[in-house]
Amino acid sequence: MPASPAVPPPPSAAVFPVWGPALFAAVRADGRRRLVLQVPAGLVRNAHDLAAQLREETGARVTLATRACFGACDFPSTDESPKADAAVVLGHAPIPNVPLARPTYFVEMREAGGDPSALAATIDRGGLPSRLGLVASVQHLDLVGPLTDALRRAGRTVRVGTGDRRLAYPAQALGCNYTGAESVAADVDAYLFVGTGRFHPLGLALAVEKPVWSLDPLQNLLEPPIDRGQLVRRRQLAVAVARDARRWGILVSSFAGQNRMPTALALQERAQARGRSAEILVFDRLDPRDLEGRAVDAYVNTACPRIALDDGDLYAKPMLTPPEFLMALGDLPLEPYRFDTYH
Ligand code: SF4
Repeated sequence: MPASPAVPPPPSAAVFPVWGPALFAAVRADGRRRLVLQVPAGLVRNAHDLAAQLREETGARVTLATRACFGACDFPSTDESPKADAAVVLGHAPIPNVPLARPTYFVEMREAGGDPSALAATIDRGGLPSRLGLVASVQHLDLVGPLTDALRRAGRTVRVGTGDRRLAYPAQALGCNYTGAESVAADVDAYLFVGTGRFHPLGLALAVEKPVWSLDPLQNLLEPPIDRGQLVRRRQLAVAVARDARRWGILVSSFAGQNRMPTALALQERAQARGRSAEILVFDRLDPRDLEGRAVDAYVNTACPRIALDDGDLYAKPMLTPPEFLMALGDLPLEPYRFDTYH
């Protein structure tokens, strides 16, 4: 009996906490000759220097992926960079359940900064509840253990949750997935997000029904809780505006980690069952100009949930997340508000 053809193993992910010699040595040892380098928005200014250093240290040809990227869900596709035999992706951890297009080196750009005792003292002065759930962006995950210890020494109960298969680490948050935080909801009275910026805390505040505080560990700066009620009311208003829409556009991204075609097809059936028309519109990176002039009353977006939640105002027609769409159809109640968790 002839042997069945061997199935090639899926492309592998290699993970590095920081940019530097360990990454360069791995690229050399793996014999990579052509690399595509992707940097997040915060590092665009340094991108050319980083590409030059990678070229010099590894001897590989390096091209830069220039399309804006927002997560490990939209690494450069083989169409965007067909000749590269590996990708180097900065600023993101791999998303475990997203298949890779080719071998990929993830450089998480971890930050060592933040004195746990000083941060715990700031939290004490901030008057946070005693039982806290800790959540962090990937850059600050190394602080979670020491900060947990410092907070416990100060008498607090601290819980760190483990999320679903879209999250690589305990305590980690993605802007579309806070399942780690949700897993400890019964044991905490508030959440503390450790990291910079408002992106993650805003999503967390929509995903959980407890106060969300934010701590910038580099500045030792504690931000007061986000007004969840205001966020929810804004989204409920968007639902109300879209409620009478008859013609819907269902948005589907082709990015490996943003593609929810099965969800889109299910939503299309649901719309039709409720007497609405619904067309599926496929894109890679969504641009408001692509939606101009369409005979559509409203959109439901199955790609990155944050497009509707954070950037919905950039679009001329209402844009809802899938749970909000079901609210608009009357298939889900407005309360409790449901965050569009991307699993
Ligand atoms: S889907 Fe959006 S929030 Fe989730 S990882 Fe991608 S860019 Fe971030």
